[in-house]
Amino acid sequence: MFANPTPFFESVLFRSLGKSVSVDQYLVLGGGSINQAVALTTAEGQFFVKYNKMAPKDMFGLEARGLQTLREAEEIHIPEVIGVDEDFLLLEFIAGRRTKNNYWEDFGQSLARLHQHTHSSFGLDYNNYIGRLEQINDPLEDGIAFFIEKRLKIQAGKAFYEGYLSKTMLRQFDQLYAKLPELIPNEKPALLHGDLWSGNVISNHLGLVALVDPAVYYGLRETELAFTHMFGGFHERFYNAYHETFPLEPGFDNRKDIYNLYPLLVHVNLFGQGYLNGIRRTLDKYCK
Ligand code: ADP
Repeated sequence: MFANPTPFFESVLFRSLGKSVSVDQYLVLGGGSINQAVALTTAEGQFFVKYNKMAPKDMFGLEARGLQTLREAEEIHIPEVIGVDEDFLLLEFIAGRRTKNNYWEDFGQSLARLHQHTHSSFGLDYNNYIGRLEQINDPLEDGIAFFIEKRLKIQAGKAFYEGYLSKTMLRQFDQLYAKLPELIPNEKPALLHGDLWSGNVISNHLGLVALVDPAVYYGLRETELAFTHMFGGFHERFYNAYHETFPLEPGFDNRKDIYNLYPLLVHVNLFGQGYLNGIRRTLDKYCK
């Protein structure tokens, strides 16, 4: 954070809106693990700005594209992109209110509808980021092959290269790849938020869900639901509503750990070996 960030915020507003708007107040928001996140109050209303001088040059532009892709699906409230450049992302401010009684049901149904948006292949026509790591989205027609080649292999290779994964674990990953077609259902490509943990779920002025900070692609929808369980899980009413709207294949609970190998590998590569035990447990369960 700068000693006095107001001139920077005002330049962000000028570059986005094409006119001078002064900042009456700013509030640093918690929760941003990678960037600075701030709420701006101005005579033109409130805005949300995220910035990071060290961000890769295309990071905010790609996040803006992902938000736009999810917004176009018109299933869940996604903040409008007001301005974007290499060093900032300016968004519609989502004013969190007390959630409505049907918050979780509405969230489960709208995520299920989002996942019904499909595509001719898995992946996306551009790469993006998961945290600050590049996420490769080269299209593939087979969902399990996509999960192996573009998700697990890339992150496992990186974790091995960085010295986190042992050769034994890498061999176990290879054994697991061969078993995956029998372990997980090969469903249609589903439009995914891609980074759906509770920190990226907020509530809007109506008390309903809004989603931020995506890592969008078309993938296996069970990967998204599994990830929601990684840090404790959402309310049971969310899962029931999802399942009623777009039923899951039987046995999902037993498959969650397999899908969560991807976010766990990402966490190892971003934050270090603290996340290795979870990976080891799953590998030991499926590959002796
Ligand atoms: P990071 O990329 O650094 O993780 P996020 O995009 O997750 O940052 O934003 C950090 C926090 O700011 C979120 O957890 C959320 O609480 C809040 N937030 C994000 N976008 C908005 C928005 N458009 N309006 C209001 N609050 C937001």
